[in-house]
Amino acid sequence: MTVKVASEWLNACSGCEISILDMGERLLQVLEIADFVHIPALMDHKYFGQTGDGKHIDIPHADVGIISGGVRNEEHLEVAREMRKKCGVIIALGTCATHGGIPALSNSYTNAEILDRYYTTETTDPVTAYPGQGIPPLLDSCYALDEKIQVDILLPGCPPHPDHIFSALAALAAGKSPVLPDKSVCDTCPTVRMGKGELKDVRRFLEAPAYAAADEPLDKMRCLLEQGMVCMGPVTRAGCGGDALRPRCISARVPCRGCYGPVQPGGNQRLDMLNALASNGIDVRSLPESVSFLRFSGAHHMLRPKRKEA
Ligand code: SF4
Ligand code: SF4
Ligand code: SF4
Repeated sequence: MTVKVASEWLNACSGCEISILDMGERLLQVLEIADFVHIPALMDHKYFGQTGDGKHIDIPHADVGIISGGVRNEEHLEVAREMRKKCGVIIALGTCATHGGIPALSNSYTNAEILDRYYTTETTDPVTAYPGQGIPPLLDSCYALDEKIQVDILLPGCPPHPDHIFSALAALAAGKSPVLPDKSVCDTCPTVRMGKGELKDVRRFLEAPAYAAADEPLDKMRCLLEQGMVCMGPVTRAGCGGDALRPRCISARVPCRGCYGPVQPGGNQRLDMLNALASNGIDVRSLPESVSFLRFSGAHHMLRPKRKEA
């Protein structure tokens, strides 16, 4: 069976689309089961009809709609709603779409604070009025896709691994629901763990973790969290290693930064990480800050502007 696929990018960096291309030779298999009727990131497809001369947004009907990026302005909202209207199944592709991603860090500030900082206070070329003409108005916050339209499949990752994009499309073409990883990064990590109570102090990642030699196998290296590095593996969804399920950053001996979002879709990586540290004996008040635990998942009202003192 061939499925018609439409793809759109909203508040996105195009990394998720590069991950679609990173399927490599499997793209040839995908093209046998999927007919891309609209994918402006890769082909010359327009919003206003396929020749661009229509008066209203018009995306072709498709069985599957893939949307990357969160919803930050009126244009994103209009495109997301049109995709929902025209597509049978909607996949939120990438952590920006599933949890806001890096752009949702802006949710710690009001739009006025952001515009002020960007255009007046922290620039050598301040303006008297913010650019406005022809630019879609900002929404009040950076939203994950499911805060604005109904989403059927969440495929997180920054970017999602090509193995899972391929398996999701193959499953949908076969009339099945995709089976995606639902464990934590720790559950797929081969490093050596001694157990709770081993972590005494958190240290900044300014020096390399301890391991015997560059070619020491990962399953001989001590867990980075137990070495005192803030590794977000316990509170982050697995999948970055693709079908091999081997966490990418840990394989490079670098702590996980949480880019697949929370293990459960509604989870709070900040609270869960503070819990994980506290249950390992760390006084969480000694951390310089913890907002960055939400660096990939600040949508769903997890991050909000600070209230001003009266
Ligand atoms: S999830 Fe990552 S790769 Fe995808 S659009 Fe967002 S920032 Fe880019
Ligand atoms: S905390 Fe990090 S290094 Fe330790 S097991 Fe989890 S993912 Fe691996
Ligand atoms: S180890 Fe963590 S931060 Fe690194 S790619 Fe995997 S999920 Fe993302």
